[in-house]
Amino acid sequence: MAALHKKKVVVNVASKVGARLLTTTTGGGAQRYYRAFQYSHHLRAGKMTTTHQQIRGCALAAVRSSTRTTTTAYDSHSSWKKNNDQLRRRPTKRECRTIVITASSSSSSSAVAAAARVKEVAILGSGAAGLTAAYFAAVTQKDAKTVVRVTVYEKTKESGKKILMSGGARCNVLPVEATIDDYVTDSNPRLAKAILQSWTVPKCLSWLRDDVRLELGIEHTTNKYFPLSNSSREVRDKLVEACKREGVTFQYETNVKKITKNEANDTYVVNTEDGKDIEADVLVLSMGGSSFPAVGTDGTGYVIAERDLKVGVNKPYPALVPLVGEHPGGEYLPGVSLDCQVKIKKVEKKKAKQAARMGFLFTHKGYSGPSILDLSHNVVKSIADGSVENNSSRNSNSSSVSSSSSSKLVVNWNPSCDWNEVLSPGKSGSDFVVRRLKPLLPTRLCEALLKEAEVDLTTNVSNLPKKKRVHLIDILSNYEIKATGHQGYRKAEVTGGGIALEGIDTKTMELKEMKNIYVCGEICDIFGRIGGFNFLWAWTSGRLAGISCSSGCIE
Ligand SMILES: Cc1cc2nc3c(=O)[nH]c(=O)nc-3n(C[C@H](O)[C@H](O)[C@H](O)COP(=O)(O)OP(=O)(O)OC[C@H]3O[C@@H](n4cnc5c(N)ncnc54)[C@H](O)[C@@H]3O)c2cc1C
Repeated sequence: MAALHKKKVVVNVASKVGARLLTTTTGGGAQRYYRAFQYSHHLRAGKMTTTHQQIRGCALAAVRSSTRTTTTAYDSHSSWKKNNDQLRRRPTKRECRTIVITASSSSSSSAVAAAARVKEVAILGSGAAGLTAAYFAAVTQKDAKTVVRVTVYEKTKESGKKILMSGGARCNVLPVEATIDDYVTDSNPRLAKAILQSWTVPKCLSWLRDDVRLELGIEHTTNKYFPLSNSSREVRDKLVEACKREGVTFQYETNVKKITKNEANDTYVVNTEDGKDIEADVLVLSMGGSSFPAVGTDGTGYVIAERDLKVGVNKPYPALVPLVGEHPGGEYLPGVSLDCQVKIKKVEKKKAKQAARMGFLFTHKGYSGPSILDLSHNVVKSIADGSVENNSSRNSNSSSVSSSSSSKLVVNWNPSCDWNEVLSPGKSGSDFVVRRLKPLLPTRLCEALLKEAEVDLTTNVSNLPKKKRVHLIDILSNYEIKATGHQGYRKAEVTGGGIALEGIDTKTMELKEMKNIYVCGEICDIFGRIGGFNFLWAWTSGRLAGISCSSGCIE
């Protein structure tokens, strides 16, 4: 049955002389096949004199000067001849197992260069967002007279270092679903929502599967997508491969320092650390934030945005960052982990906000785990708001806050318990308190909480004074985390703040005040909670910037 559906498609672009250029793609998806047909159809209709990006890598010069085009599709059992209706029809996935593009030409590339206007797109930063922008800039349909050359400039020796370290080296590429409530921004959230709505999770998933060629699966316990290989390296490598397939070129060890406008010819000049000047018509800023400076992201993007482009930047701060603080009862509990309910209570707000996730971890320095990381920015902001003891400058590695912060993290150590019921003397009055609590909490934590409540391990439930009982229940269900600081950008998974969304055209990701400069990814003032939301932002904003910057090349 499989053989019955196996189709072979040949798009043949021949000219008088007959030099042959060939590329073969298997399993590239319906989109790829459709593009080849679209391209061919345009040629036949005399609409297209320059190449589509799809065939640029193999037959750039040849295709531009083609004089005759034939398109044939056939399979092992029957062949179906092309006609205009068929060419317009979007083929099914089964029909596009194999695509062969054959092109021949007699024209010289200089003739081509004369006919086509070349636009240079420079993508500055090769992380998740930059790679996505590069891919979509390369595949987006151009007009008849424009060739768009896409080059990625990256400071380090390789692309996507953060992809490599993400999700415990498994790379949580996407959440199962997302809403604006999964994100934090100091800009107007409606602007973030508009950008996020430009793509959906299912469409992003299809892109990763069909075009990037990643096999992905859901981890049902956490509602997250991971590569089936559980390898973040595979994600990074396949993204780079996808870009290269579409003709994107990469220049590593290129540390961007400054951007200036060349008013004479309406281009931008990008100065690099080694004194090289890169001239480009269009720039995409995808240099990330300040978190994990050791892997290349040191906040230079914000400096360039403010200093050279005069763009509004909301004060960056470490987010999704482990907190520093004492453990309960003055005990030392590193390695103890549990599922619990963490809430942030803000002085000015009546209602506490609950962390979406329950994972909690005691670390050597304080607290971590998804529930703490997701709410950590509130503590960080409290520090920035005033009660600072140490300096928390942009690149500081950690800072601390006095206990009188405006946000309080409170924990119910086991929200499935009715603590009143658990400690009720009527239940079985002869029990020790510790014996009632131990099955419900990790042992070391249980003992530390009792120490904090000044309840002796030999205390019987029936002997527990009412005042102590109330105090203990408060510690079990409403424990205030003594966060005195955070671990700074060195350990922050993302940076909060960044280029204010108010300065960005949300339909295109172009800077409102700087024509032909687009932004995407973590450099923007938004981050998501743990669970693939940050990559979703990187893919979504990167795609929008890539498509728009390429379309913007058409005058
Ligand atoms: C440990 C860790 C784990 C994470 N896990 C996940 C996860 O599982 N799921 C998830 O959704 N998110 C995760 N994140 C967050 C996610 O990695 C980021 O949100 C995402 O990578 C941001 O992509 P970006 O392209 O905007 O920036 P980056 O990935 O930071 O890329 C920016 C690039 O620009 C380059 N650059 C910087 N300055 C210059 C310059 N001056 N010149 C040239 N190039 C420059 C950098 O070297 C870098 O390659 C994790 C982050 C960390 C630190």
